[in-house]
Amino acid sequence: MEVVSLTLDEARARAGVISSVSYTLDLDLTGLETFRSHSRVRFASTATETFLDLKGALSVSLVVNGEAVEAAYDGARVGLTGLSEEAVNEVEVTATLPFTTDGDGMHTFTDPVDGSRYVSAYLGMDNASKVFACFDQNDLKASFSVAVTADPADTVLANGAVVSHDAGRWVFAATPPIPPALLVVAAGPWHSVRWSHAGLDFGWHARRSLATELDRDAEELRRTTEACYAHYADLIDEPYPFDSYDQVFVPGLNWGAQEMPGCVTYRDELLPRGAITDAQRAIRAVIIAHEMSHMWFGDSMTMTWWEDTWLQESFADYMGYRVAEAGAGFSDLRVEVEIRSKPWGYRSDARRSTHPVAPLAEDVPDVDTAATIFDGISYAKGGACLVQLAFWLGDEEFMAGVNRHLTRFRFANATLADFVESLAETSSKDIRGWVEAWLRQPGFDTVSVRRDGDVPVLVREGNRPHAFTVAGYDSSLRLVGRRRVELGADPMPLPELAGHVVVPNAGGETFAALRLDPESWEALSDGLSRVEDPLVRAVLWSSAALQVRSRDLSADEFLDLVETHLPAESRADIIEGVLSEARSVVIPHRVPASRAAGAVARVATAAAAGLKASEDDEQRALAWATALAATSADAGLLRGWLDADKVATGIALLPTTRLEGGPGLAALGEADARFIAAERDRDGTVEGDPRGASRPRRATFDDREGRRLGGDARPRGRQPPLRCAGVGDVDRGAGPPAASLRRRLSRRGAEAGHPWPGLRPRGRPRLPADRSRRRPARCAASSAGRRRTDDPAAFLGGPLRRPRVATTSL
Ligand SMILES: [Zn+2]
Repeated sequence: MEVVSLTLDEARARAGVISSVSYTLDLDLTGLETFRSHSRVRFASTATETFLDLKGALSVSLVVNGEAVEAAYDGARVGLTGLSEEAVNEVEVTATLPFTTDGDGMHTFTDPVDGSRYVSAYLGMDNASKVFACFDQNDLKASFSVAVTADPADTVLANGAVVSHDAGRWVFAATPPIPPALLVVAAGPWHSVRWSHAGLDFGWHARRSLATELDRDAEELRRTTEACYAHYADLIDEPYPFDSYDQVFVPGLNWGAQEMPGCVTYRDELLPRGAITDAQRAIRAVIIAHEMSHMWFGDSMTMTWWEDTWLQESFADYMGYRVAEAGAGFSDLRVEVEIRSKPWGYRSDARRSTHPVAPLAEDVPDVDTAATIFDGISYAKGGACLVQLAFWLGDEEFMAGVNRHLTRFRFANATLADFVESLAETSSKDIRGWVEAWLRQPGFDTVSVRRDGDVPVLVREGNRPHAFTVAGYDSSLRLVGRRRVELGADPMPLPELAGHVVVPNAGGETFAALRLDPESWEALSDGLSRVEDPLVRAVLWSSAALQVRSRDLSADEFLDLVETHLPAESRADIIEGVLSEARSVVIPHRVPASRAAGAVARVATAAAAGLKASEDDEQRALAWATALAATSADAGLLRGWLDADKVATGIALLPTTRLEGGPGLAALGEADARFIAAERDRDGTVEGDPRGASRPRRATFDDREGRRLGGDARPRGRQPPLRCAGVGDVDRGAGPPAASLRRRLSRRGAEAGHPWPGLRPRGRPRLPADRSRRRPARCAASSAGRRRTDDPAAFLGGPLRRPRVATTSL
């Protein structure tokens, strides 16, 4: 049945009558296809009727205040009547629920490497009600006492510290008040690294088949965790709110990570096989710091309703970069923000589907709609707004307001109005005006440089106050000066930089498009790779990409910059960020289909040149090699790399690079059934599984476009995994099975109920295959008339068959 998500009105009405909630949960996970969930809920009520959320239960029994009653259950809600308005109510719901394999609810996964089974409750949003009967809304926080029965060979992790465990029975300490959606249970034969620090028990855990990878990274993971913990202790007045801190790399998580109090879960792609690159280490550290910030921003202080998603995600985005850099010592993360994060924010904000960072509650009328605001606005733009706010206010004043807010709403719920009050209390600045301009309206301003004679003049197009650094350069692009400016409605001349090249927002402090004067642009487009400060280079690359979007710069001009300057770029993160922009935004959106193959070939040319120029730098070489594997139409080169398992420079092929090269060969018509079977057998892990049968990923759409395109605000289907990108590989100019595969995948997607059929595979143009280069697909399945594991469709296409049973079908 179609389950209707909780509405704002319903949540407000229920929060108006229910209070003092606590839960005792008993979960039995020893079944194969279903699990038993017993939820005892105690609460006060000022009404005699209400309801508990419980989705998809196969059987339900109900006891209300000691009396067994017939459950009024409609598949989504358990009706409660006859409640006491004076005494504490106690309701017991015993339910049988199905395990899931789509990452929402009690997810099961069987590791193809060793057959180990993992069972984890992946909640968030309104998924708690897929695991236990509850008041599934953020502002009915409760303490949870949890007991779990699991396979005696398993370790079970949960929010609270372990009180006891014996023969598969695990009992956990009661939590402080948290929303039901933040509960976590993770059972399986985890490989664990545990230690104590600052009076708290810590742990990192991963699947047993990833033990080598966890041991490889354990020292760094521990160091990063401790450094972030210490930095938060300095930064935040409120002590760490929970009784332990476990971090688990889990399989099949739809989110990058989830901030479960005391027990954070991470998508286990963050523990990559083979080598881990410096860029991956840095991003992982940012995510570790991001999730740890949620212990305060989201877990202790929680939004009341979903319009204030920014109160947790924008802060976590901001804190993630700040603390990973200042606390854990990963340098220059502002470059990463400029080259990767903010472009996401600009893209999301330039679409007609954008929304304010802090919308009105009424604009998020139900949880389905809330699912559409976990996007580039709530994360990247919101994080950038907080960078701007801290720069404008000064860090001391900013953090004082933030701390007032966190202390005031410890283990409680808050709204934008509460935050503004905490911030404005001691500030002489117009906080409310700033919030209206920056958080309450969508879109972004443009900061332009004009010339009055020789004198550069900064001009704002828009209505937001901006504070940022301006850098001036001589004609050889040597820095001549920097200064802080505050730009409002009045143009601002910069006489001290007369005759010089000017770059506004040189420190990346504000969120605005840049439009440089012709003299500055000419000098910078000639000498971009010579600008010494990588942050300024990142700002300029990001600005160039944004200009392609606004059509102030053509895709060809952008690709000119890529070919001219990127091979000389000294930083792998900038190389990866620019190539990602070129491949996933500039070419698909701004290059006509008839010319896309040529544009991709230009990226491949740049990648070959960059790889050649990076022989002495493994990090850059790895970035270039992955890009070349993803864009090259040179089957001989790809085949050579795969055969040797290394790139020409002698660097071992990363498994992820291998996963780009294989589909490349398939798209070029060079992958026969034997090759594909060999690739599958060679890898054998779920990450390298050509069918990706257990790699659910969140749907690609990052905003409300998902609703329009998919006809469903809450994408239940998952993004076809990475390999689906291969379907769009017609842009390599070959594409034999690609076009027909795409059709087949769309059809299968429709059959599987995915919302994405018809969606363009991410980052690939919708193109006709070049017929002159077509060859018959050597596809074993096409003659057999059925799908086989050596089917190139399976290799390219991924998991369109969602297993219905508790094990992963391989
Ligand atoms: Zn987050």
